[in-house]
Amino acid sequence: MLPFASIGRHHDPQQEYIVMSVEPLPLSEATSYPIRKIGVVGAGLMGNGIAHVCALAGIEVVLTDIRAEALDRAMTTIRVNLDRQIKAGLTTEQQKAAALTRIVTAVGYDRLSECDLVVEAITEKEEAKKALYKLLAPHMKPDCILATNTSSISITRLGASTDRPEKFIGLHFMNPVPVMKLVEIIRGIATDDRTFAAVSALAQRLDKTISVAEDFPAFIVNRILVPMINEAVFALYEGVATVSGIDTAMRLGASHRMGPLELADFIGLDTCLSIMQVLYDGLSDSKYRPCPLLVKYVEAGWLGRKTGRGFYDYAHTPPRPTR
Ligand code: NAD
Repeated sequence: MLPFASIGRHHDPQQEYIVMSVEPLPLSEATSYPIRKIGVVGAGLMGNGIAHVCALAGIEVVLTDIRAEALDRAMTTIRVNLDRQIKAGLTTEQQKAAALTRIVTAVGYDRLSECDLVVEAITEKEEAKKALYKLLAPHMKPDCILATNTSSISITRLGASTDRPEKFIGLHFMNPVPVMKLVEIIRGIATDDRTFAAVSALAQRLDKTISVAEDFPAFIVNRILVPMINEAVFALYEGVATVSGIDTAMRLGASHRMGPLELADFIGLDTCLSIMQVLYDGLSDSKYRPCPLLVKYVEAGWLGRKTGRGFYDYAHTPPRPTR
C-alpha cells in the first residue's frame, strides 16, 4: 500500500505523462474529459476559495448555497482576496474583473446541469453530504464528475451513496485556497481512471501541487494536524498553559506560523471536532478521543473566526483569548 505519492509532469519527448503512485497515465487520458464549467456547492470558507481559484484560472463557475447571505458573503470575500492578490503583484485588475464575470451565484441546484464537475464543500457532516448528493443527482449531467472537499470522511462510503461512484472522488483543498499550494486527491474504491486523471489535470491547471492519499480517515494533512490541535485543547483543558501560552510556545518553540488554537479557530472548531470524531470512529483508537473542551466550545456555538469567537474573541483587536 502506498500511503501517498506526489504527482507531477514528466517531459518525455515520446510520451508526456502524469506520474502517480501506481501506473503512469497518458496525458491524453487526463485531457479526454475537459472541465470547462465547475459547480461549487457550499459557499462557506472553502467554497468561496475554490470558486476564486477556478475563476482566476479561466474556468466558468456556478457557486451555490442554501443561504443567499452565504453567497453574498462569499462574493465579498472573493473580491477582498483578489484585491489582496493584486496588491501582492500576483494578479491584475483586468484578471480580477474577468474572474468575477466567470462566477454566477445561485440558491438551489438547477444551474449545476451546465457543469462538467461539481465540487461539494458543505458542512463536514456525513449525513448532510449524503442527503445533498440525492438532491444533486437529477440536476447533474450523466458524465458530470462529483468531487467532495471533505477533510476526513470516507470517499468510498460517500461515493457509494451517489448515483455515480465511479465518477466520485475526493478533491481536498487547503484553507485558504488561493494561498495554499497543496491539494490532496483521494480515490474511492470505485473511482475510475478517467475521473482521477481529469481531476488531477484540473489541480495542475489551478497551479496546485498534488499529494495522492489512500482512502483512510482524514487522509494525510488532517490525520496529522488535527490530533495535534486536539492535544493542544487537552493541554488547555488540563491547565498546562493558557491559550496564549500554548500558541506562543508552538509558534516560537516549534516554528509554526500559527499556534494550534489560533489555527483551530481559523479552520472552524466544528470542522476540527467532526474530523476527530471521524478519526475516533474510523480507527477505533482512544488516542483520537475528542477533547471535552472542544466539544463544549462547539456546543456553545463558539466555532472560531467564522462566528466571531472561539479560543479567541475577535470583537477585540488584537483578538483576546477566551481562557
Ligand atoms: P463552512 O461552514 O464555512 O461552509 C459550509 C457552507 O455550506 C455554508 O455556507 C452552508 O450554508 C452551506 N451548506 C450547508 N448545507 C448545504 C446544502 N445542502 N446545500 C448547499 N449549501 C449548503 O464550512 P467550510 O469550512 O467551508 O467546510 C466545507 C467543507 O470543506 C467541509 O467538508 C470541510 O471539512 C472541508 N474543509 C474545510 C477546511 C477548513 O479549514 N475549514 C479545509 C479543508 C476542507
